[in-house]
Amino acid sequence: MITCTNCETAQFLQITQSRVYFEDGEMINEISETYECTLCGATGQYVYDEDSDEESITGDVEHTTERPKYA
Ligand SMILES: [Zn+2]
Repeated sequence: MITCTNCETAQFLQITQSRVYFEDGEMINEISETYECTLCGATGQYVYDEDSDEESITGDVEHTTERPKYA
């Protein structure tokens, strides 16, 4: 789950841009999503690279496997 680091919730996050990259016209190997928190205005980007199974986060969002503090 992607959450806002300021608000510590995903409740107000909107995906403003979403891209999926293809290789050889078929395999999805990278996903890029840009988030904006409508509560505090924070923005961040989440990128997932399937080839290396790596996630990277930039900006004011974070990826957490835990339940958010505020549902
Ligand atoms: Zn926020």
